[in-house]
Amino acid sequence: MTATVHHRTCPLCEATCGLEIEVADGAVRRIRGDRDDVFSHGFICPKGSTLKQLHDDPDRLRRPLVRRDGVHVEVSWEDAFAEVERLLVPLRERHGADSVALYLGNPNAHTIAGAVFGRPLIQALGTKNLYSASTVDQMPRHVSSGFLYGNPGAMPVPDLDRTDYLLMLGADPLESNGSLCTAPDFPGRLAAIRARGGRVVVVDPRRSRSAEAADEHLSIRPGTDALWLCALAHAVLDAGTAGPGSHLDGLVSGLDALPAALAPFSPEAVADHCGIDAGTTRRVAAELADGRRAAVYTRIGTHTAAFGTLSSWAGDVLTLVTGNLDRAGGMMWATPCHGRPPVPGRPPGGRGFRTGRWGSRVSGRPEVRSELPVAVLAEEIETPGEGKVRALVTVAGNPARSTPDSARLERALADLDAMVSVDIYLNETTRHADVILPPPSALEKSHFDFAFYGLSVRNVANWSAPVFPAEGPGEHEILARLALIVAGQGAAADPEVIYGLIGAQLAQQATSQEGGPLAGRDPDELLAEVAHEPVPERFIDLMVRSGPYGDQFGAVPGGLSMERLRAAPHGVDLGPLEPRAAEVLRTTSGTIELDRPEVLDDLRRLAAVLDEEPADGVVLVGRRHLRSNNSWMHNLEVLVKGRPRCTLLVHPEDAERLGLTDGAEAVVRSAVGEVTAPVEVTDRMRPGVVSLPHGWGHDASGTRLEVAARHAGVNSNMLTDGSVLDPLSGNCALNAIPVELAPAP
Ligand code: SF4
Repeated sequence: MTATVHHRTCPLCEATCGLEIEVADGAVRRIRGDRDDVFSHGFICPKGSTLKQLHDDPDRLRRPLVRRDGVHVEVSWEDAFAEVERLLVPLRERHGADSVALYLGNPNAHTIAGAVFGRPLIQALGTKNLYSASTVDQMPRHVSSGFLYGNPGAMPVPDLDRTDYLLMLGADPLESNGSLCTAPDFPGRLAAIRARGGRVVVVDPRRSRSAEAADEHLSIRPGTDALWLCALAHAVLDAGTAGPGSHLDGLVSGLDALPAALAPFSPEAVADHCGIDAGTTRRVAAELADGRRAAVYTRIGTHTAAFGTLSSWAGDVLTLVTGNLDRAGGMMWATPCHGRPPVPGRPPGGRGFRTGRWGSRVSGRPEVRSELPVAVLAEEIETPGEGKVRALVTVAGNPARSTPDSARLERALADLDAMVSVDIYLNETTRHADVILPPPSALEKSHFDFAFYGLSVRNVANWSAPVFPAEGPGEHEILARLALIVAGQGAAADPEVIYGLIGAQLAQQATSQEGGPLAGRDPDELLAEVAHEPVPERFIDLMVRSGPYGDQFGAVPGGLSMERLRAAPHGVDLGPLEPRAAEVLRTTSGTIELDRPEVLDDLRRLAAVLDEEPADGVVLVGRRHLRSNNSWMHNLEVLVKGRPRCTLLVHPEDAERLGLTDGAEAVVRSAVGEVTAPVEVTDRMRPGVVSLPHGWGHDASGTRLEVAARHAGVNSNMLTDGSVLDPLSGNCALNAIPVELAPAP
C-alpha cells in the first residue's frame, strides 16, 4: 500500500517540534523530524518518535471505564456520561458548588481542548476548589509577572537566537527541551550562542548536561537562588551601571525603591548561604551589565522553592537593570498569533494584578489566578464541615504522583464520594476514579499550541490535522459534555450549546476591543464567516483572523487564517520577537512596577534568612530526563528500557560519610515520608545535595500500566512537604528538602 506522509507538531513538550509521520496500512511506519518545519528545522528528541508507541499502547484506554464493585469495567460513552450525571449532580445540589473540586494536569497546556474548553468547565463547576499543576511548577513565574507587569500571562523569554550572554538557573534544557521558553532544538540554540562568541553560564547544584555544555558552571546551594539573584542585582546597582535603557523611558516605576530593598543582599552577605564567593558574583554581575545583549533565564529549580516568586522577580529585575528587558538579545515577549492585536496609540496599563481574593477553607491559603495551591487539596478533602471537597474531577493529571506529600493525597482520594477523570491511562490517580473518560490519542486529534506561542523565542503559527480519525468523542466534546452535565443540562445535552457560547464570547471580544481592527463589526458576521469550520478549528479561525497577524476578516488580505494555516503544513514563520513592553503592561500605573508591597515584604522575609547560619544538612533536589515526561510516559518500553533512571544521585564524599555504595539501596527520610532508592554515586552532585527524579512510583495496585510497573521506581513526592510553600504563589517547595540518608537494611 502507498504510504502517506503527514506533518504535525509534536504535542509532548513545550519545544513544539515539527514531525514527519509516514503512515501505511493504517499504521505509523516512521516518525522523524520535519526538516522543512519553519521553527524546528528537523530537530526531534527521543520522545517525538514515540507518538506511534503511545498510539499503539495496549494499555491506553479506548473506551470509558466505570467502577463496578471495586473493579473498572468498560462501558459505552452514553453510560459513562450518565454515570457522571448520577454521581455529580445530586452531590453538587446537596453540598454546593465547592464540594466538587477540579484538578487540571500539565498536558492541558498542550491541547486545544485544554486551552479552549477548560474555561467552560471551570465556569460550569463554579467551584473555589480549582487546582492545577501550575502550583507544582510555574505559579511563581505568573505571580512575578503579575506584580511587575500587571499581567501574569506576560512571561518574558530569553531571545536565544540573538543573545550574547545567557545566565540560566534551575534549568536543564538539554534534558527538558525548555520550559516556559519554547525553543525547538534548545541544545543547538545554546551551541549557537557560543559559536557566535557569546557565553552561557549555568547555575545548578548538579553538573547537569546543560552545565557541561556551557562555558561556566556555578554550583549553588539549593533553595538560595533568590538570594543570589538579588545579590547580582545589588552588585549591578552598586557598580552604578544600572539602568533599564532609554527604550523603557516612562515605562518603569519604583526604581528608587530597589537600592534599599536589595541592600541586605550584598554578594558578601549571601556568599556562605549560596556557596558562591562574592568575587564570582560581582564578576557575573559585571558581565551582565557591560552592554552586551544578555538574558537571565530562571526556571523550575528556582521556582519550586520557598522563595520561588522572588527568584523569578529578581531574575527579571536583573534583566531590567542591566538594560536587557524588552531588547533584542535580552528577555522579550512573544506575540502569539491568537492574541489581541496591538492598538496604536493605546496608553499602556490595565486593571492590575492581585491575589488572595479568597482563601482556602482549611488553612486560608490565598487564591492565585483563581486557583488554590494543590498542596491543600488533601486537607480540603479530609476536613469535615461546610465546603468540604466530596468529589473530584481530574483532567489529564496524575496528582497522586506529581504533587507534594502524595501518600496523604492518595489516602484522601480513596475517601472521596465521587471521582471522575479524563485520562488515557488507568494510573495511580485515576485508579481512584469512579468514571474514566479517555480522550483520543495525540495522533487522533488536531493540534495548535495556544499556550506556547506566547512563550516562543520566535513568532510562528502551525496547525496540525489529525493523522487518524478518533475512535470516540473528541477531547473538546468530552469537556463540553462534562460542563453541560454539571450545569444541570443532562448527560444527553448537545455540546453545540457550549460551542455556541464559546464562539459568541470570542466574536464579542474581537469586536469590542476599543480601537482594535474589528471594533464595531457585527459579532454574528464573524461567526457566519467561520461557521463552515469544524470544532475546534472554528475557534482557532476566529482567534487567528482577529489576532495580530490575522486577515481581520477581509480587511488585511493575505493575513493569517485557518485557510492559510491549512496550506502551510510546515508552519508559518512570523519573524523574530519585537519589543512590546507597552503592549503587555496591565498594571494600573501603566508601568513596570518595581515596588509592589507584596514583593518588598517578601524581600524582608528573604533577608531574615541571612540572620541564620547556613543549614548544613543534606537536601534533596529533583531532576529531569530526556526520556521522561513527568509521570505519564513510563509505559513505553522504548523510553524506559536500559539502566534504571530512578536513582538517588549522591556525591562520593557524602556516600563515604554515610556508608552508601553505588548500586546498593538507601533509605531517604524527610519530615513527611520515606522511600528506598538505588544509589548512584557521582561527582556531578554538589556535596550535601542528593537528587531523585519525579514522576515515578508505578508499583500501585489497581493500575493498568504493565510496562511502567516493571520499571516502577520510587515516588519522590512521598518526601515533599505540602506545608512548605512559596507564600506569594502557593507553589510547592519541591527542591531543597531536608533529608536523612542511611543504607537500606
Ligand atoms: S523536544 Fe519535545 S516537542 Fe520536540 S520531539 Fe521531543 S518531546 Fe516532541
